[in-house]
Amino acid sequence: SGYHRVLEENRKLYNQVQDLKGSIRVYCRVRPFSPGQPNRSSNVAHIEEGNITIVVPSKYGKEGHKSFNFNKVFGPAATQEEVFADTQPLIRSVLDGYNVCIFAYGQTGSGKTYTMSGPKELTEEGLGVNYRALGDLFHLSEQRKDTFRYDVSVQMIEIYNEQVRDLLVTDGLTKRLEIRNSSREGLNVPDANLVPVASTSDVMELMDIGHGNRAVGATALNDRSSRSHSCLTVHVQGRDLASGAVLRGCMHLVDLAGSERVNKSEVTGDRLKEAQHINKSLSALGDVIASLAQKNAHVPYRNSKLTQLLQDSLGGQAKTLMFVHISPEMDAIGETISTLKFAERVATVELGAARKNK
Ligand code: ADP
Repeated sequence: SGYHRVLEENRKLYNQVQDLKGSIRVYCRVRPFSPGQPNRSSNVAHIEEGNITIVVPSKYGKEGHKSFNFNKVFGPAATQEEVFADTQPLIRSVLDGYNVCIFAYGQTGSGKTYTMSGPKELTEEGLGVNYRALGDLFHLSEQRKDTFRYDVSVQMIEIYNEQVRDLLVTDGLTKRLEIRNSSREGLNVPDANLVPVASTSDVMELMDIGHGNRAVGATALNDRSSRSHSCLTVHVQGRDLASGAVLRGCMHLVDLAGSERVNKSEVTGDRLKEAQHINKSLSALGDVIASLAQKNAHVPYRNSKLTQLLQDSLGGQAKTLMFVHISPEMDAIGETISTLKFAERVATVELGAARKNK
């Protein structure tokens, strides 16, 4: 039957992405110097396929070079298209009923939003992972339309100071939401608006609304967007036209809050509270991923709203990809080192063998 044919097709795809199953891939992306800042000294000494070597000044330990291995390293010249090409198999598996999480991690200004959404002035080539992923889902579901009917809908939420808010509201009132894991149809924030989408332009419209709502907070709390996590969740439901069987997959596309350490002596009040919430949730995320990688029996999902939100999509059969972003500036070396160390910890098990060969 059509169903079996699709299953067989799925199996092939499944094999292609077998190396992704239940695993965590880590891609490192180095952004270019900003225009107008040519010939600055770079903290990156060398980049290869899956390896990056940075310059370590004496202030940060033993002076010299330090190498890190990841599944892939994208240098400053990598295009959005190239970055997406390596992400594509993961996205395809959502149509086969897998859950997927894609994160952008890094200090503020390192290129997280660029990777996920694109530059401020969006051009076709500039389109980030979010748009390309949705575009791909629509394209593939169209290809399968004789055997499957797919419905795609999205939610967009923000986590700020351990509070979850709906970004897909049109009245500017981003209401507070609860995370409830055991909810209908795999929705873990059932009260967030769930909007059906059928084209990339639908998605663009919604993302404009969502980004606009993130910016609302920015007037009061100056650049709040770098201090909150935003998550575009794509729910896919596929019905086999012959048998009526239903597959469900879900994909979280997460632009994390800036990972920079805040100097406690320099900030107080709201800034300090924000920084503490961010540290807490990013380390909770690191703990969850590391504990999954080590196959620990207990995975500490409950330690933050972020990990609660993503619980169904981290571990088990789910596939996780983390883009870690670094800035090339020498000034950023301290953050670059801590970002790469975090990323290395996240990648522990899968990359363990590679690291030994260093
Ligand atoms: P973040 O989301 O981590 O705070 P942004 O994505 O806003 O950082 O990037 C900071 C600036 O650098 C923006 O002006 C962005 O357009 C630019 N930028 C980031 N990554 C790239 C890249 N790969 N190519 C060109 N410009 C980039």
